Amino acid sequence: MAADCVFCKIVDGQIPAEVIAESEHTIAFRDISPKAPVHVLVIPREHEPDIASLAEASPLVAAELLAQSRAIASQEGYEDYNLVFNTGANAGQTVFHAHAHVLAGVDVSKLFLA
Ligand code: AMP
Ligand code: ZN
Repeated sequence: MAADCVFCKIVDGQIPAEVIAESEHTIAFRDISPKAPVHVLVIPREHEPDIASLAEASPLVAAELLAQSRAIASQEGYEDYNLVFNTGANAGQTVFHAHAHVLAGVDVSKLFLA
């Protein structure tokens, strides 16, 4: 657990969150400021600052996080979804504990890539 990390505090139960799924190494909870009909964050229980660092330190946990992302979209009623990993402050990352944004119900690729 990293000091002053809001997501470590959610993992530890010190800060409330609407947790919708858990696996051995991940937890998933609704984003406090949703940007899509489904906007869930999937995070590793262990602290790593971003997804690439997690993949380097614990590749099996990174894979579990990806698999969980699909399971959560499915649980929310969507087969199709977007995953966003903001990485670095200049790319909009504000919480430096690795997390996937699982977005469904709107095709966010249109916002970035069309
Ligand atoms: P990012 O900008 O990629 O680092 O994403 C951080 C996300 O965490 C944002 O979408 C925030 O709305 C969300 N967030 C921050 N604090 C909380 C919290 N306590 N519970 C749920 N979501 C949060
Ligand atoms: Zn953390």
